[in-house]
Amino acid sequence: MAKQEDIFKNVVSHAKEYGFIFPSSEVYDGLSAVYDYAQNGVELKKNIREYWWKSMVQMNENIVGLDAAILMHPTTWKASGHVDAFNDPLIDNKDSKKRYRADTLVEDYCKKLEDKADKEIDKARARFGDAFNKEEFITTNARVVEYLAKKKEILSRLAKGMTDDLQDVKALIEELGIADPETGSKNWTDVKQFNLMFGTKLGASAENAMDLYLRPETAQGIFVNFLNVQKSGRMKVPFGIAQTGKAFRNEIVARQFIFRMREFEQMEMQFFVRPGEEMKSYEYWKETRLKWHLSLGLGKENYRFHDHEKLAHYANAAADIEFNFPFGFKELEGIHSRTDFDLKAHEEYSGRKLQYFDPELNENYVPYVVETSVGLDRMFLAVFATSLQEETLEDGSTRTVLKLPAVLAPTKAAVLPLVKKDGLPEISRKIIEDLKWDFNVAYDEKDAVGRRYRRQDALGTPFCITVDHQTLEDETVTIRHRDTMKQDRVKITELRAIIENEVSMKNWLMKM
Ligand code: ATP
Repeated sequence: MAKQEDIFKNVVSHAKEYGFIFPSSEVYDGLSAVYDYAQNGVELKKNIREYWWKSMVQMNENIVGLDAAILMHPTTWKASGHVDAFNDPLIDNKDSKKRYRADTLVEDYCKKLEDKADKEIDKARARFGDAFNKEEFITTNARVVEYLAKKKEILSRLAKGMTDDLQDVKALIEELGIADPETGSKNWTDVKQFNLMFGTKLGASAENAMDLYLRPETAQGIFVNFLNVQKSGRMKVPFGIAQTGKAFRNEIVARQFIFRMREFEQMEMQFFVRPGEEMKSYEYWKETRLKWHLSLGLGKENYRFHDHEKLAHYANAAADIEFNFPFGFKELEGIHSRTDFDLKAHEEYSGRKLQYFDPELNENYVPYVVETSVGLDRMFLAVFATSLQEETLEDGSTRTVLKLPAVLAPTKAAVLPLVKKDGLPEISRKIIEDLKWDFNVAYDEKDAVGRRYRRQDALGTPFCITVDHQTLEDETVTIRHRDTMKQDRVKITELRAIIENEVSMKNWLMKM
C-alpha cells in the first residue's frame, strides 16, 4: 500500500494537472496557503455548495439564506470576542527563526505517546489473536498505562497553561525537551499570543481611515441580521439562517494544501431556538449533518464525532465531525451550541435589542443558537482525496479514476465521436446541444477513444457517450459508466433520463 504522504502528494498533483486547484499567483511563485480553483475545481466546489444549500435551505421551510458582506462594522469583532480572544499561542525558535504554535508542539508530543501505546496494542493483538481484549489490555499493561497517563497529564497542564499563564506552556515545552521539528534546536523564545484576523482600512486618507477586519467567520453576519430576517420574513422561532461565503484567517501553521488556508469558504447555518431547547436541537443537528455527509457515499468508516471537553467561551456543547483525510482524522465540520452569547453581546455593544417576541409564550427573549459550520474547501479535499483511486484492471494495466459522487462531478457526461468524420462529430454536437440545458457536458474528439475514456475517468466524469457508425443507422449510442466501465447500447432519446437518474440531487439527498 502506498504511504500516506505519497497518497497526499498524488492528490495535490492530480488537482493541478487536471485543472482543479492551482497555487495562487503561481507566476510569482505562489502565496502560501492561498489557492485558486481552476476550471474543473470551480464546478466541483459549486456543486458541493449547492448540495449543501439545497439540503439546508430549500428542503427546510424554516431555514432561509443570507449573503452578508465580508466587511463589517469593526465593533462586531469586539462584541464577538475575536479582537480579544481569537489568538494562537506562538513560539519562535531562536536558531532556526521558525515559528510554531506552542500548543501544537505539545499536542504532537502527546500524539507520539499515543502512537507508542498503539504499537503495544497492535503487538498484543497480533500475539493473542481473537482472545485479545483491548479494554482490559489498556488498563493493565504497565507501559500502555504509563504512556496514556502521561499524555493525559501533559494535555491537562497544557489546557491550564493556555488559560492561566503562557509561561507555563513554555516551561512545559522545555521540560519535555521538545525540539524544533525541522532542525532539532531547543532554543525557544517565550510564548506570545498572535491575533488571527487580517486588518484592512476603509477610507481614502490616512488620518480618517477606519480600521476594519476581513471577517474570520461568516457567523457574525448572520447574528447582526437576526432581527432583520426574523421581522421581514415573519419567521417564528425555531428558525435558521444559512450562509456560504469567504472567511479569512492569518493561520500560522498553514500546511496541508486546502485543509488550512488563509482565505477559505465556510457554509454555516445558525439555528435560533427557545432558551432551554438548545440541547435537543444540538443533538438533532449533529445527527442530521452526519447523515448529509454519509449521503455522499464516501464510506461510514471515514467519519467520526469528536465531542469537545474544553469549550469555547461562547459554547455550552460542541462537537466536530472529523473526516479521515490522507493525513488522518481531522475536523471537517463543527456543531456548536453557542447559547445566547453572540446576540447578547451584540445587544450590549450596539445598545439595540435583539429579542424575539414569542406569541405562544407571550414573552420576549434572546434566542439560543445552534450552529453548524463546515469548510467548503475541506469538503472539497475530503471528496476529492477519497475519490481519487488507482485501479488494477483484469489485463494487469492500471487506471487512475476519480470516483466522485456523480451528483458533484464537474462534468456529467462527455460526448465522443468515434472518428472525426462521416458525420459523427455533427451528431455528437447535436447531442450536446440537447443535453447542455440540463447538465454540464463536454465534447472530446482528440486521441483514440480508449485514451479519451481514461482522461474522463481522471476528471471524474460519470458517463462517456460514444457516437459510432451504428448511430447513423439506428440513432443509438454506447454509454459507458465510469466506475464499472460497463458499456450499454441505448437510444439517444434515453440519454437524458439515464444521466438524470444518476446525478439528480433529489436521488442523492433522499439517501439522508
Ligand atoms: P481548526 O481547529 O481546524 O483550526 P476551527 O475549529 O478553528 O478549525 P471553526 O472556527 O469551527 O474551525 O470553523 C468551522 C469550519 O471552517 C471548520 O470545521 C473547517 O471546516 C473550516 N475552517 C476553519 N479554518 C479553516 C482554514 N484555515 N482553512 C480551511 N477551512 C477552515
